[in-house]
Amino acid sequence: MSYSNKVKEFYTSQLSDIQNAGIFKEERFIHSSQAADIEVEFPSGANLRKVINMCSNNYLGLSSHPDVLEAAHEGLEKRGYGMSSVRFICGTQDIHRELENKVTEFLGTEDTILFPSCMDANAGIFEAILTSEDIMISDRLVHASLIDGMRLCSAQHDTFKHSSMEHLEEKLLLHSDKRIKLVITDGVFSMDGDLAKLDEIVKLCEKYEALILVDDSHSSGFIGRTGRGTHEYFNVVGKIDIITTTFGKALGGASGGCVSGRKEIVQMCRQKARPYLFSNTISPVIVAGVLKVFDILSSSTERRDKLEKNAAWWRKGLTEAGFILKEGNSPIVPVMLFNAKLSQDFSRDLYDEGIYAIGFFFPVVPNGQARIRTQISAGHEIHHLEKALDAFIKIGEKYGILGLTKEEIIAKYGA
Ligand SMILES: *Cc1c(COP(=O)(O)O)cnc(C)c1O
Repeated sequence: MSYSNKVKEFYTSQLSDIQNAGIFKEERFIHSSQAADIEVEFPSGANLRKVINMCSNNYLGLSSHPDVLEAAHEGLEKRGYGMSSVRFICGTQDIHRELENKVTEFLGTEDTILFPSCMDANAGIFEAILTSEDIMISDRLVHASLIDGMRLCSAQHDTFKHSSMEHLEEKLLLHSDKRIKLVITDGVFSMDGDLAKLDEIVKLCEKYEALILVDDSHSSGFIGRTGRGTHEYFNVVGKIDIITTTFGKALGGASGGCVSGRKEIVQMCRQKARPYLFSNTISPVIVAGVLKVFDILSSSTERRDKLEKNAAWWRKGLTEAGFILKEGNSPIVPVMLFNAKLSQDFSRDLYDEGIYAIGFFFPVVPNGQARIRTQISAGHEIHHLEKALDAFIKIGEKYGILGLTKEEIIAKYGA
């Protein structure tokens, strides 16, 4: 036995450090399918409760849509449960290619390659297309999976201040001697709900001959007039060289991701991206479900329109009630509380009122910027939002923060 007491103690003490820092993550068990109304159990107690879900990425309410379920059943019947192989050996079905073509058409790109997840897409893309002669220049707030992908790549790395175009331009100038320059950003930043300035980034990339990669995981399916994503919102469809995204959020919520973009870049991924070469892709069940999701989205914009309306209603209600929100144009609506403990107390009180929304604090968000992050869905009806708003107002009154400025809340509770 090499798992000695010494090793065991090493881990035990690390775990208690995490606990003492107040950042120990606990799972809550949902006893129903993913939807606006869910039943939740906290592991620390047997308090199974019906609550309204205000914190899922199920933006379009498709995770349990009957048509998606039916398509998934049919996929299971016709193509089986699993592939038992990676793509290039015997793990590719006709429907995998069909889905790649459908994504290409939906995003307005040249080609697409599926990955087991967007985390894997981001882990594979950089190493597949860049070497030490190249430079990756990323926004400072990009998603962890992009950071990990860049760490796996021998290209040089630099960053620019969040959404600062002046700073990005400085960095593009500084690295003008590199062979390939790749600018990397999220489309919608998940903690704040703000959009990358893609129109301006595209202009800079054209001026300095740089490529651009956008991770649109928090926008594919609903941002832009027909839900294509941030490139549609900013009218730069066809100008984004690489889009990575997930099927695990708005697009059905199961799992899977992709790299979509320039044909040669996608081909390079098929030859060299390690999560593609050495891990199974999405199972036929999920492929069939995601295909149906794209059918639904291509036939009507009803869901993204409803989502937009819901999000606008929610923002207006909270603002009029006197809460401080992060500005944004997405269904991610962070309610700012600034103090970590207040965010936890607020979240617990919401739960007691039947509203499920999680408080985030350092290190998930910067110090002194604790918040409740709410996420709106097309699966919400107005009665859900009204009940949630009533609960927010009741608890806001309890803590006496309605109508206060940031400085006043911090004076009262600390940051
Ligand atoms: C959620 C998310 C991912 C990971 O997606 P998975 O398919 O679940 O691995 C990657 N990038 C961003 C920006 C995300 O928000």
